[in-house]
Amino acid sequence: MKYLTEYRDAELVAGVMREIKRVTTRPWTLMEICGGQTHSIVRYGLDQLLPPEIELVHGPGCPVCVTPLEQIDRALAIAARPDVIFTSYGDMLRVPGSNRDLFSVRASGGDVRVVYSPLDALKLAQANPEKQVVFFAIGFETTAPANVMAVMQAKNLGLTNFSVLVSHVRVPPAMRAILGSPSNRVQGFLLAGHVCAVMGYHEYPPLLETYRVPMAITGFEPLDLAQGILETVRMLEAGQVEIKNAYARAVTFDGNQPAQKMIQQVFMECDRAWRGIGVIPASGWCLRPEFDDFNAEKRFDVGEILTQESPLCIAGQIMQGLKKPHDCAAFGKQCTPETPLGATMVSSEGACAAYYKYGR
Ligand code: SF4
Repeated sequence: MKYLTEYRDAELVAGVMREIKRVTTRPWTLMEICGGQTHSIVRYGLDQLLPPEIELVHGPGCPVCVTPLEQIDRALAIAARPDVIFTSYGDMLRVPGSNRDLFSVRASGGDVRVVYSPLDALKLAQANPEKQVVFFAIGFETTAPANVMAVMQAKNLGLTNFSVLVSHVRVPPAMRAILGSPSNRVQGFLLAGHVCAVMGYHEYPPLLETYRVPMAITGFEPLDLAQGILETVRMLEAGQVEIKNAYARAVTFDGNQPAQKMIQQVFMECDRAWRGIGVIPASGWCLRPEFDDFNAEKRFDVGEILTQESPLCIAGQIMQGLKKPHDCAAFGKQCTPETPLGATMVSSEGACAAYYKYGR
């Protein structure tokens, strides 16, 4: 299949791996930002093909994993209301809140439905005018265009029974938080190709200048990832601090400008708590006040939310590149995909789920 088969060619990947080995003279720690990249790396065993000097640590780019516990508990409270149809991508249903998850709300009679797009939730609102339909709008820059489009459509249609519970996060402020931490180990970044396809990469040069860390925009297939690693190692070995675009078939410097414009019309920057990590300034997108009518947080008063995270879970440290899933005492014991203690064991982009699924 075009754009898949050729990027999974084992011979080509082996050739890039040989080149990585040839150019590597000393230890380097690289972080892949995106959970989708983590899964590809672990699934295809790329980390095991690398020379021992290259360590990959896994970043916070899993939207389900970083959605704050308070927002999940809020979602659970809204979903339990009898007047609500609560809609979400499937990944979120098993993410543990303080005491339960969306599946258990559904088992107790809540109307919780999986949708594949926020526009499906919009259709549900049109078809069920007697109900309030809420969409759990989580994600990075990648899912933002579809979510803002749903809000715009709802406004254009004059819908009064549709709202979104927003928990959007942005990559550059998270990278700034990681790089600015005294415990940072990351020397080079593989940037998330799909985020850059939407946003371009004009937001990254200031990070480059401040922290002097090279970056390669990287795709998701094994050859993409191997190429991104090679570009980053080459820059590190040569003392270059640049941004290389190793995903040029999808990414341009300016990105998708109509999508960016639409995002700016509906969202504004806000501080956001990242699960396990804490509040990162200006790292989120929230609805602008003119869209308050579609803001589920304003529409539903769910009272005070007291969160309780599992004391065993070290997902926050894993997503900052400080620990690996194996370092967690609960990994594969108290915490499995069937009995997850943290979101990184649930999501299809979570590092703990990747290590568990592919037997590491
Ligand atoms: S294995 Fe489970 S408890 Fe441990 S860090 Fe991962 S999600 Fe948290």
